Amino acid sequence: MDKKIKTIGVLTSGGDAPGMNVAIRAVVRTAINRGIKVKGIRHGFRGLLDKPDIFELNNFAVSDIIDRGGTILYTARCEQFKTEEGMQIAIKNCKLFGIDGIVVIGGDGSFRGAADLSMRGILCVGIPGTIDNDICSSDYSIGYDTALDTIVEMVDRISDTSQSHERCTVVEVMGRGAGWLALESGIAVGASVILVPEFDFDFEKDVIDKIIQAREKGKKDFIIIVAEGVVHNKKTSVEEMANNICAGTNIDTRSSVLGHVQRGGSPTVRDRIIGSQMGYKAVDLLSAGIGNRVVVMKNNKIKDYDIFESQKMKKPLDKDLYLIANEINK
Ligand code: ADP
Repeated sequence: MDKKIKTIGVLTSGGDAPGMNVAIRAVVRTAINRGIKVKGIRHGFRGLLDKPDIFELNNFAVSDIIDRGGTILYTARCEQFKTEEGMQIAIKNCKLFGIDGIVVIGGDGSFRGAADLSMRGILCVGIPGTIDNDICSSDYSIGYDTALDTIVEMVDRISDTSQSHERCTVVEVMGRGAGWLALESGIAVGASVILVPEFDFDFEKDVIDKIIQAREKGKKDFIIIVAEGVVHNKKTSVEEMANNICAGTNIDTRSSVLGHVQRGGSPTVRDRIIGSQMGYKAVDLLSAGIGNRVVVMKNNKIKDYDIFESQKMKKPLDKDLYLIANEINK
């Protein structure tokens, strides 16, 4: 609490997300405004190890990045950082570069690394950055809104051609183990069926029969949104699902995996605002000598939690939203 912070580092780790640059910019601007120097650490925790990739960031270095997807600091996954040896190298390099605290922008995995460093005297604050929105302690993670918008735009286009050919299209969306992207994009595109890993389903009853019943009432084209977690858990593919739908309904059915298009793009207004708020809050904590925290959004307010406590939290998928989707999307 009483440690005077002179220099902080900032890094992005794990999967990239639109809006990470916004948070980097807010971190740099807030810190410099408070007389704290900022060092950018490239390639996540890897940039702290054997070949340190650390450079000074000034206000000018973060000009014109607010609208850029990806991360100017690059990102990586780094196994060595999980070892005690890796941790010690990171601490040695932090001391060498005069880094007293680090803002870690990433997901829960990255926050575990942040907690490990905090425990060893390098104060760290995490900022949720992942399109999957799967960080349990926070209602929102930077990048989610942009990814949702991208999915909706892409699926609307697929819908145009699906309608023209009176087809069914099965679309796989990202989300890792979580169904947030699938559920909310599915509602927004009016998908006939939404499959998420959190809620079990019976393929015959919940997919085939539902399509047949809708067709009997006159519906001719269908969009089925499938979370990647479902594909992974059921050891299947959207192509296989499409084949089964075609066989079970006699409707021409195609499949599409949206893939990394969902990760890119210019951040939405929501991501720019929340990214700015979270970057500011992270520096606010560090400048007061407070570390081992994660910045979160709870009920539309920016707050912070202890990283260890945050890792124990649960964020169940919104069941009401799922029930609404099932009732209104036929
Ligand atoms: P995300 O942050 O998106 O959840 P990962 O789970 O891949 O992504 O974690 C990103 C990086 O964070 C890892 O490659 C590693 O460098 C670091 N990390 C993850 N778990 C730990 C851990 N238990 N201890 C230390 N570092 C970790």
